[in-house]
Amino acid sequence: MAIVISQNPVNKPEFRDLEGQIAERASKAGLTTYITPHLYNVKSDGPVMTHLRRFDGILIVVSWMYPRATRWLLHRCGLAANERALHVLDAKEISDAEAFMTKILEIAEATDWIPELEEGESPEPVILDEQVKLRWYPVVDFRKCIGCMECIDFCLFGVYGLDEDNRLFVEQPDSCRPGCPACARVCPTGAIMFPQNQTPEIAGATPDEDSADEATEGQAEEIARQERKTYLEEAGRAEDVPEDKPKGDELDSLMDELEKDWE
Ligand code: SF4
Ligand code: SF4
Repeated sequence: MAIVISQNPVNKPEFRDLEGQIAERASKAGLTTYITPHLYNVKSDGPVMTHLRRFDGILIVVSWMYPRATRWLLHRCGLAANERALHVLDAKEISDAEAFMTKILEIAEATDWIPELEEGESPEPVILDEQVKLRWYPVVDFRKCIGCMECIDFCLFGVYGLDEDNRLFVEQPDSCRPGCPACARVCPTGAIMFPQNQTPEIAGATPDEDSADEATEGQAEEIARQERKTYLEEAGRAEDVPEDKPKGDELDSLMDELEKDWE
């Protein structure tokens, strides 16, 4: 089992301090600990991802992104582990190193992991280095993607491509226009994320699964629908706005009307 601490892209002392404290405590607990640059900025074929792909144990990844974005980013880089082998913690959500260690040890205890160390021995955190620059590209949640290919048709810069099985993938991430999340607004299912975007829904936020109810899901869908509509209208593509479909009470009223006509 290893802990991967993906550093915040902003070099602020408070971020480095928290990351350092987590690394120190994880090492003391006998966990292999890696410190990496912000994983969104490293290259899929660069030294960091290559090293992590070689590690075949359970990974617990601490990153400054929403867990859905981190998970699908790692998926794209060939670290597509199942739920048991890959755990993701959001550094924005947990305030101190102690709380992180509680979570990390809960995960460790739920597995067969035991420290492979002699008493008093603790490994040093390993720094996995790579020259990085700030990047901007889409990350696709393939659980939500319905393969409609709206994104590939919409993007003028060849960011998306199809693999040999005609499945969508992000072929040329660095051709994406920095700061623009246009295709995330066009995707009908909210499958496209830009983890650095200020809007939580576009950055990969999901309703808390434990407390999610139909109203929350419905509201998120409505926000996404409105965002797409506004975007397409502003882009002069009002004809592409999907027609509103009747739903819920509206659908019930429509059925009542039809039944009346048949009587
Ligand atoms: S627009 Fe969204 S749902 Fe359609 S193929 Fe692209 S990512 Fe998948
Ligand atoms: S944001 Fe624009 S340039 Fe980037 S992938 Fe989407 S449509 Fe293409």
